Amino acid sequence: MPVVSLKNLVKNPLSVLSDVSSAKSEIDFQPETFDAHVMTTYGRFPVALTRGEGCRVWDSEGLEYLDFVAGIATCTLGHAHPAMIDAVTQQIKKLHHVSNLYYIPEQGALAQWLVEHSCADKVFFCNSGAEANEGAIKLARKYAHTQLNIADPVIITANASFHGRTLATITATGQPKYQKNFNPLVPGFHYVPYNDIQALEAAIAQLNAEQPRVAAILLEPLQGEGGVNPGQADYFQRIRQICDEQKILLILDEVQVGMGRTGKLWGYENLGIEPDVFTLAKGLGGGVPIGATLTKQHCDVLRPGDHASTFGGNPFVCGVALSVCQTLAQQTLVANAQARGEQLRAGLATLVSKYDDLVEQVRGWGLINGLVLTSDQAIDIVRAAMSEGLLLVPAGPRVVRFVPPLVVSAAEIDAAVDKLDRVLSQIAD
Ligand SMILES: *Cc1c(COP(=O)(O)O)cnc(C)c1O
Repeated sequence: MPVVSLKNLVKNPLSVLSDVSSAKSEIDFQPETFDAHVMTTYGRFPVALTRGEGCRVWDSEGLEYLDFVAGIATCTLGHAHPAMIDAVTQQIKKLHHVSNLYYIPEQGALAQWLVEHSCADKVFFCNSGAEANEGAIKLARKYAHTQLNIADPVIITANASFHGRTLATITATGQPKYQKNFNPLVPGFHYVPYNDIQALEAAIAQLNAEQPRVAAILLEPLQGEGGVNPGQADYFQRIRQICDEQKILLILDEVQVGMGRTGKLWGYENLGIEPDVFTLAKGLGGGVPIGATLTKQHCDVLRPGDHASTFGGNPFVCGVALSVCQTLAQQTLVANAQARGEQLRAGLATLVSKYDDLVEQVRGWGLINGLVLTSDQAIDIVRAAMSEGLLLVPAGPRVVRFVPPLVVSAAEIDAAVDKLDRVLSQIAD
């Protein structure tokens, strides 16, 4: 298979043109060549996925898998969904990128959809979850400086949280393994145990002892990477009260749980509260790179020059994300996430009683669920499931995570539970 190279380009521009069309149709994949050129920042499974449809994907050898990873809770509509194909095609033909120097109608329409369907009043668009959280952190700091007169603001986050991989967001992330070797970290963060209201109240009292310093509390409604650990409603309701009383911003990281994943459109609906600010990314574009920071009016403090992104909110990603949102609503996929999630938890609960030496518990909301193991075997179970044609992803060493596309069918849920049953029976032997 011919390969496009810079050398070719310089030597013979015409030959490159023909190379481009053939390279597009099929890329010759060799793991050794890949590893020779791509930084080894990921521990990858020895599989290259090359095609997908609905909740199924195929690898370069033609083997089929049931995809309960969905690009880590990202492919909301699964693979090759007609609505996405249509939106991508229409938008690329029309206009794909300009700049925020100009009004972008698709960006406005997506922001309007999000505002009309959530508690937020305004939206800023970026390209990823980490960036969405960076935007929220900057917003909270400016709010503290300009509205609360705090010179040295602190943001409280939780142990076992995950907020991204930029310097500020690994600092916000309450897990030392993501911070190791990247000192000095960003100042202004303080950690508390999750779902522990006494610890939070004590931390606020201590930080605010001399003068007010706490600007915001940043939490996931359900901790995803940290082990699929749902937030408790009474914990979040008390936090909401504290934030109202002390003018502290409540920021929710909905990067993994937003967009219908939990069987409600937003994760916070499971907790009976509204945040002041929340962030989105993964499921928002169904797989095109987009993130968003959403805020209520009273803390909408960012002004021209404060924050920006070259790619953020471009016509391409916003056109596609809008069609993902509309499809979610038209095909009642949030209700599907609720129903299929209940079915999955019931199926997994039977495995918990059948293999009680291996599996401790199933927990989650809608279509984000974790199987909690009795020992650190998550990666072994994920590998074995892959051999059975089922894609899963660990959430820490002891939890296997299930985050299929929201279009998943009842038959596909049953098939996944059957495959996992075979995997656990092999491991139990
Ligand atoms: C994935 C994730 C992020 C980071 O998103 P990126 O797009 O990888 O930057 C942040 N917060 C949560 C809760 C996530 O699950």
